[in-house]
Amino acid sequence: MSKKDIFDKRVPLLDLVKKINLWVSKKGTLHGVKEIEERGSFIIVRTHCNAVSRGRNSKNSRRARWLRQRRYITPCKKCKIPDWKLKRFAGKKS
Ligand SMILES: [Zn+2]
Repeated sequence: MSKKDIFDKRVPLLDLVKKINLWVSKKGTLHGVKEIEERGSFIIVRTHCNAVSRGRNSKNSRRARWLRQRRYITPCKKCKIPDWKLKRFAGKKS
């Protein structure tokens, strides 16, 4: 599977988050995903720092766009996302 497949534009947010196990908050903080649940047209995400966040399960939401474009402002310190995961997310070859 190539990186292109992982960040396919047609993939809804739920599938995207399930694949990469990362979540970006409204402020641009990147969190690690502990649990994810589908509820109607929304998804509920529990992060490793025990925050619960809700997002629309859309291909075109701002959040889906950020995750696809590998954008975030800062990684969450409490989630302790491993370096390799951040590098993979950023698309760098370690
Ligand atoms: Zn966090």
